[in-house]
Amino acid sequence: MQLTSKQIARFWQKVDKTDDCWNWTAAVYSSGYGAVTINSTCYLAHRISWLLKHGKDSEQCVLHTCDNRRCVNPSHLFEGTKGDNNRDAVEKGKHSIPYKNARHVYDTNGRWRAIVQGKHLGYFDTEAQALLEVEKQIGKNHHHRD
Ligand SMILES: [Zn+2]
Repeated sequence: MQLTSKQIARFWQKVDKTDDCWNWTAAVYSSGYGAVTINSTCYLAHRISWLLKHGKDSEQCVLHTCDNRRCVNPSHLFEGTKGDNNRDAVEKGKHSIPYKNARHVYDTNGRWRAIVQGKHLGYFDTEAQALLEVEKQIGKNHHHRD
């Protein structure tokens, strides 16, 4: 996959870079990983960060050396197998780190609930649909942010 310079700029606008982790501030999957919509498809934000750093998609899992699923700092990412990913999750526990600007998608009774800054956007059949709705809402709010 290739991103346009506009898409790349849009990606980094959603990242809050600290000296340590680079936190994804837009939509997050129910798993706690950052979600980014590109050409109407949802991707894991840290995988896109990997793609931008290395110029190609990883064919393996992209794992975190830090314990922060929202982090997209390329220096905190490494490739591993699904087995590594599972071990990683078990060793580090499954807690996610709250982040004040994050927009959430939750799985509730088999439906996906989209929330932006406390505002309930509705229930959706798939996580991808809920994330798209979150992205749309973020787009509307764009001029009022920060
Ligand atoms: Zn990190």
